[in-house]
Amino acid sequence: MSEEHNVRSKMTSVELVLGVLAVLSVILLLIPTDLIKFHKTLIASDYDAHLYKDNGLSEIRWLDQEKQLWECVLNDQHITPFCSMQLDIIDEHGKGINLSDYDSMTIWLNYTGEAEHLRVYLRNRNPQYFVLGDITSTKYNVVEVPVSQLKDGLVIDMNNINVADWWLSSHKIPLQLSRPEFEDVVYLEIQTGSQSREGVHQIQLEKVEWQGAWLTQAALYKIIILVWIMFIFAILIYRIVALNIQLKNNQRYQKELISINDFLNLKNKKFEDLAKTDPLTGLHNRLGIRDALYEGLNNWKNQRQPFSFVLIDIDHFKRLNDTYGHDMGDKVLQLTALQLGKNIRRTDFLARWGGEEFILVCPNTTLDEAEVVAEFLRDKIEHMDIDSDHAITASFGVSSMSEPDLKKLFKSADDALYQAKEQGRNRVVTSI
Ligand code: GH3
Ligand code: MG
Ligand code: MG
Repeated sequence: MSEEHNVRSKMTSVELVLGVLAVLSVILLLIPTDLIKFHKTLIASDYDAHLYKDNGLSEIRWLDQEKQLWECVLNDQHITPFCSMQLDIIDEHGKGINLSDYDSMTIWLNYTGEAEHLRVYLRNRNPQYFVLGDITSTKYNVVEVPVSQLKDGLVIDMNNINVADWWLSSHKIPLQLSRPEFEDVVYLEIQTGSQSREGVHQIQLEKVEWQGAWLTQAALYKIIILVWIMFIFAILIYRIVALNIQLKNNQRYQKELISINDFLNLKNKKFEDLAKTDPLTGLHNRLGIRDALYEGLNNWKNQRQPFSFVLIDIDHFKRLNDTYGHDMGDKVLQLTALQLGKNIRRTDFLARWGGEEFILVCPNTTLDEAEVVAEFLRDKIEHMDIDSDHAITASFGVSSMSEPDLKKLFKSADDALYQAKEQGRNRVVTSI
């Protein structure tokens, strides 16, 4: 009962966890993506900036330095004409910005001019290639941004930023260091692009923002699926264990039932034996001899097997009782039963028929054979040793089955016994 309750309460908690998981999954799926995002904003005017250009005839100047609005007049006399604004983003500890955890970058840049692209550099420092005093030894991670898309902030995937080829080749960077790096970005640089035309370009960098996410949507889905799979797995294991326990309990219960059944059968047999036994002599009573009687009858009917029957009655037993007392009578009954019991054949059945009368059922025995048996027993009783002067004798009525009628057989034996009494007792008389 308590185990059933246990299983039921566990099942209720399984359902509870299932419900909580379902609700959690829905919440996670509906969660605004901003909550799992982080970002970093850089306002250009908060940092020092300086302008530089090619060695040719291009001109560069601040239009409004405070607002970091600058102008470049490109002159393509030079092989690689360019103008650049370098924003120094090193903090007070001399460290650059670590942008390696961000996925995208949004850039707000105002541009007036004919150029189609501008370059944005994120220049990273790494002791493996950075040489103090050589400002160009910072890694030039670059992306060319299309000017036409600059309105309202242009989002650039950090994966689309590459290392400038000219930098890789001019600094003889080994292959393993040739990928973009953003761990220590010390300069943010805006430069006129390689395809920029001769002419006037006005540029103003407002701000840059980098976005990252604690969890990508895909990772979130993976986590939800993983948790569900683990939960289902846990339920399966729980069910297997619970079934095993139930099976073991059932087996134990079955064993208990079998042992109770065995015990009851044993008790039953004991009661049955008791019911078939005469308590005084320990011999069968009438009920105990019934099976032997019917078996004899059937064998006679089916196989014509001879079947005989001996009624034994102690002579003058009443006198014995009256003379020596009832206890002595009981004792004589017990001794007689013992004497008869130890002298009968193994195939015969002895029972106390009632009072001081006994019956011997002799299967597969003719009348003559039964008479011999009766005579033998009569002699044994006559010479039985008892602690009294009183001689104990018994009379015997023997009969054999001649037709399939137990009553008639009994009556014949009874008649024979009566005759034995009539003829003076202590004798055997046969009757068919
Ligand atoms: P008979 O020779 O004609 O058989 O005479 P009997 O006295 O043996 O026969 P009767 O039927 O007159 O008496 C039988 C007596 O057996 C009567 C009864 O009190 C006694 N008796 C019956 N059952 C028991 C018993 O369990 N114990 C004792 N002690 N006596 C019993
Ligand atoms: Mg009698
Ligand atoms: Mg008698």
